[in-house]
Amino acid sequence: MTEISSNIKKFDVEEVRKLFPVLHQKVNGKPLVYFDNAATSQKPIAVIEALKTYYKGYNANIHRGIHTLAEKATKAFEDTRKRLSSFVNSNEVEEIIFTKGTTESINLVASSYGRKFINEDDEIIISGLEHHSNIVPWQLLAEEKGASIKVINVLEDGTLDFDHFKSLLSDRTKLVAVNHASNSLGTINPIKEIIAVAHEVGAKVLIDGAQGTAHLEIDVQELDCDFYALSAHKCYGPTGVGALYGKRELLEAMPPYQGGGEMIKEVSFEKTTFNDIPYKFEAGTPNIGDVVAFKYALDFIDDLGKENIASYEHELYTYAREKALTIPGLRIIGDSSNKVSVLSFVIDGVHPFDIGQMLDASGIAVRTGHHCTQPLMDHFQIEGTIRASFAVYNTKEEIDRMIEALQRVVKFMKA
Ligand code: PLP
Repeated sequence: MTEISSNIKKFDVEEVRKLFPVLHQKVNGKPLVYFDNAATSQKPIAVIEALKTYYKGYNANIHRGIHTLAEKATKAFEDTRKRLSSFVNSNEVEEIIFTKGTTESINLVASSYGRKFINEDDEIIISGLEHHSNIVPWQLLAEEKGASIKVINVLEDGTLDFDHFKSLLSDRTKLVAVNHASNSLGTINPIKEIIAVAHEVGAKVLIDGAQGTAHLEIDVQELDCDFYALSAHKCYGPTGVGALYGKRELLEAMPPYQGGGEMIKEVSFEKTTFNDIPYKFEAGTPNIGDVVAFKYALDFIDDLGKENIASYEHELYTYAREKALTIPGLRIIGDSSNKVSVLSFVIDGVHPFDIGQMLDASGIAVRTGHHCTQPLMDHFQIEGTIRASFAVYNTKEEIDRMIEALQRVVKFMKA
């Protein structure tokens, strides 16, 4: 970590903000307010510096070289694996596979585990809260194998109907894939309970952790989840990097996902033998620099402490929710009490896209649209929402600015 970040003794948002260069700029003539953290979070200086240091100082291909730079790059790459293993508390470092992100991690499981272990008439359960990344890979698999997909109902407050989930489970259920937290609504799912009941019928469980990693405690052993997928860029790390946690016995039983260098032990034209995990699933040259820098994002989170992060973000969310509800015609979509800091809403008579554009004119970045959860939008019979998602560097003053801007928008549209 940089000196600045390791100097944070208690949670001081002004100190935290100093670590994020991108925040200190004007957009459309106004100081930037960045509320699009569920799409991607900003990066602390330590992550940016780590990337620069790697390319300026020791860029080399990993694992194969015996020269000094290659050894240094290999060590830094493997250090991130160790760091991530302790971050999610995996039993073994080898249970962490680097991928491009959550999407690739889920596709890896669908292609490899799915193709081998899911057969005709088997069932895969997903939920109505899923991102397209946790829907489409299962549809592709189901179509190929003649399996079917069951979907857990979403209740009015944006939580999952647990009784419905239990009613879907049977000895046909081979896999359950749900998110840790919903990117569209912020709902935190009861994944420990989901995993426990799924295991009772012998199903494996994949958790899409894209929205969990930056905000929620993750202990894959305590959860007893079979797979956990995550993206570095959602938790202060670089884009283009993510990981899949998988239990050793499952990863060992799974065939390789892609063929190429690094994933083999020996190759001849007659027969190829495959490398051990995790390398069996890491064909080709990985995104070394970004993996190296990812470690500094995990350090940043742990320096602040997940509990501190969660309580500060909860404070921001509660503040924003209360203020938002004073705006005439504003309706929160998914207003449950157990959420990560995502405020998703619509305003009667105003298209989300127009609101997004007007907020942008005031320097405020939010996301509008279906957030890659079209079935969820259909469920609520809306085209999309306006989503303000908060991170550790956001402030109540920024929320005040958004609320004032929304008040102006409503006044203008109604005039
Ligand atoms: N799952 C959820 C819940 C997400 O929010 C996202 C990204 O928004 C993804 C999956 C896909 O993540 P990535 O695009 O990093 O692969």
